Amino acid sequence: MELRYKAPRGTQDAVPDRAAAFRGVELTMLGVAGCYGFREVRTPVFEHTELFDRSVGETTDVVQKEMYTFTDNGGRSVTLRPEGTAGAVRMFLEHGLFNEPTPQKYAYVTSCYRYEKPQAGRLREFHQFGVECFGAADPLADAEVICLAQELFDTLGITGLTLRINSIGCPTCRKAYQDALREYFGARKDELCETCRGRLERNPMRILDCKSPVCHAIAEKAPVILDFLCDDCRGHFDRVKQALDDYDLPYEVDPTIVRGLDYYTRTVFEFVSDSIGAQGTVCGGGRYDGLVKELEGPDTPALGFAVGLERLLMLMEAQGVSLPADDPVQLVLIAQTPEARRLTATLARDVRLSGCACLFDTVGRSVKAQMKYANKIGAQYTCVVGESEMAEGSVTIKEMATGATETLPLEGFAEAFAEYAMRRVVEAFGENMQLPDGQ
Ligand code: ATP
Ligand code: MG
Repeated sequence: MELRYKAPRGTQDAVPDRAAAFRGVELTMLGVAGCYGFREVRTPVFEHTELFDRSVGETTDVVQKEMYTFTDNGGRSVTLRPEGTAGAVRMFLEHGLFNEPTPQKYAYVTSCYRYEKPQAGRLREFHQFGVECFGAADPLADAEVICLAQELFDTLGITGLTLRINSIGCPTCRKAYQDALREYFGARKDELCETCRGRLERNPMRILDCKSPVCHAIAEKAPVILDFLCDDCRGHFDRVKQALDDYDLPYEVDPTIVRGLDYYTRTVFEFVSDSIGAQGTVCGGGRYDGLVKELEGPDTPALGFAVGLERLLMLMEAQGVSLPADDPVQLVLIAQTPEARRLTATLARDVRLSGCACLFDTVGRSVKAQMKYANKIGAQYTCVVGESEMAEGSVTIKEMATGATETLPLEGFAEAFAEYAMRRVVEAFGENMQLPDGQ
């Protein structure tokens, strides 16, 4: 069948199994972040375009090439968020949250939009789990968010990620560095791509992050920022590394990391995997001490990171880590006659009210086909309802995994089933407990 309607290039649906995996991963991450004091926030999927121009930076790839920008019917330019930090900062300012006790710590799960060339691990609509922390300047805050990111991966059972860190300094030390870059790249200006030639004067650091092979090759021998750090930035970086050592977190210092967004200062970091191909960065983040002020708020140190959820799921699949799944349906009611089918409809409603997942036949299948269906969806229990059951006022529950049966009354069935199902959970727990010898 040739389908006429397909999802737009670079987007992915989440069919139920995948949606369950996303939800499980997201809830786990929000839970872990909650232990670190990060509370969930939600911001709009679109913002005024200027917000991203100003924060992400006019000379970045994201703003120059990748944004989904359009004019709405009121004539305003709006943009689908390409990342989560700008919206979080705007929210922080708009709600006067800088007046609340600091640090303010937020976590979010969002969709992001970038017009990029779709490939494995690179989509046009993708999802991020992110955290932002406002009002903490201490290097221990940098190490704390890095530790949180590591704990997210550990909790999900992901292994083998490399943590790379760098410091990209502050506007003070960056001045000398930008000059050194202008001199270095200026000498090879003719070889640079057109975009980078335009960046040479305004923001030469962006050339370091260019994806064009020629610019990339030239950038490899460029001066590194670590040689230009001022004393404050160097001291900060040393203390971040010391704190990571205290956490026993291994890291590599990689002086080539500059990150693709303009707002970063001082600490930047990435978690990289080599098991999912070229798009191996699953998490990127860092400090952005200048951004709140840049967006006309009070001078507020800040930092955060974002994890790409599609890449994370790819990694979990590649490593054979079991993805979270929906709980199986507990009970499937099987009707033998039309009257029994009517009864199963209300029985199912009552069972659901008692908190158990229950299905009955809404298709009009034969008894055999209903059985087959229950098997296929992995039902934990089945229960046949027919003429004799209705006459006797009792039904038999069958536990599919063991074949064990139990007779329950139709009167008060929902409560009786809930009690039975709970008893089986407790019994199964006991059966699985390994007691030491002699006990
Ligand atoms: P990359 O270097 O791979 O382009 P980036 O530096 O643009 O990444 P960030 O803006 O820091 O990425 O976003 C944080 C995370 O979001 C990335 O580490 C990645 O896991 C994920 N991500 C970024 N862009 C995409 C995309 N187009 N498709 C899927 N995931 C993405
Ligand atoms: Mg990118």
